[in-house]
Amino acid sequence: SLVLVTGGNGFIAAHCIATLLRSNYRVRATVRSNQKADDTRNALALAGVENLSRLELVVVPDPTDLQAFSATLQGCQAVLHLASAFTYDAVPGEFEEKLMIPAVKGTQIVCEAAKQHSSIRRIVIMSSFASVYDASLGLQPGSVYTEKDWCPLTYEDGVNAAAVPIAYRASKVVAERAAWDYVRDNSVQYQLVTLCPGMVFGRMIHPISSLSQLNASNQIVWQVLSAGNQGEVPPTKAPGMPFPQIDIMESELTQSSKVWIDVEDLSETSLKALTFSGTGHERFLVTEGSYDTQEIADIVRSRLSDRQRVPVGEPGKRIADTHYSCDSSKVQQVLGVKFRRLEESIIPLAQQLYDMEGC
Ligand code: NDP
Repeated sequence: SLVLVTGGNGFIAAHCIATLLRSNYRVRATVRSNQKADDTRNALALAGVENLSRLELVVVPDPTDLQAFSATLQGCQAVLHLASAFTYDAVPGEFEEKLMIPAVKGTQIVCEAAKQHSSIRRIVIMSSFASVYDASLGLQPGSVYTEKDWCPLTYEDGVNAAAVPIAYRASKVVAERAAWDYVRDNSVQYQLVTLCPGMVFGRMIHPISSLSQLNASNQIVWQVLSAGNQGEVPPTKAPGMPFPQIDIMESELTQSSKVWIDVEDLSETSLKALTFSGTGHERFLVTEGSYDTQEIADIVRSRLSDRQRVPVGEPGKRIADTHYSCDSSKVQQVLGVKFRRLEESIIPLAQQLYDMEGC
């Protein structure tokens, strides 16, 4: 069968496409320009992705254009919606245009267009842990988040946010709510499945030609990897650190630990979400557990012995138990997925990032 993947040139999307192709699905992926279509096909070929002849790339310059997007769904059985601005490159005043509208309208268009195509039986939307947790409550030691929880941020909170991470989180939760509202208010022939992953780490196979284009979540790892062997483990408040926007995001919770998932495990989860035999709408929290930037530093220092550019910090110290945790047993039970440990995700990524720097 044929699956439409939106935002096909992205970090997670590239892995999802590879997983679908390897499992003998045909894939049609949307990107926003011809150049991105060419770059995506080339990057996937370079990464050795199998069955590339079963991939079609289509250009939709404006994914909030219902007619243009709907035309791409012809003959599809399922949609995997990933396109959304995961960027901290926006300042107050720009959040509605750069984050809220693409996320919310983009998701509404997917739901609406899919209703026009009776062949479509399932939509999987890549939401986020951002749509689940309530950052305003602080660290909440002892609290356990599940897919029953909802971030309380509203559209207005996103538009008027004081800092971009808040606007990003609002864009994700309001977009996901828009999808749930759509299937509640309309009689749809498809099933809605939303996935709420934590920070996604792992080796990249999407088009990226320099570290300046690094996707937001892998920036967290690079920040630790490139900090030098003096000083503290990032995030720190030191001026001149790369990606200061990550500092803002992390310091909101005055912590350097959050929840995470490996990109290949998330791709496998997306495949299962597209194909499992359940018949109701479902929401899944998708996290392996907590990560800690100190833990990332420890892993890299112990496993990549020739790459001692990472601060020592306080080896073995974990702050995960000072804040909330997650229960993602539902996704593991219902979809039968298993998640790899942090070091299995970080080491290949670290090697790739250091190699890219050397280029
Ligand atoms: P990337 O930045 O690598 O990819 C984002 C994709 O969305 C690209 O295809 C990009 O296309 C597209 N996009 C960006 N802005 C817009 C816009 N304004 N209108 C239309 N399309 C746009 O991100 P990831 O692969 O990391 O993220 C993919 C999805 O997963 C997103 O929905 C993100 O919110 C979600 N997610 C990611 C997590 C992570 O840690 N990485 C965690 C939880 C959820 P273009 O190149 O043309 O801009």
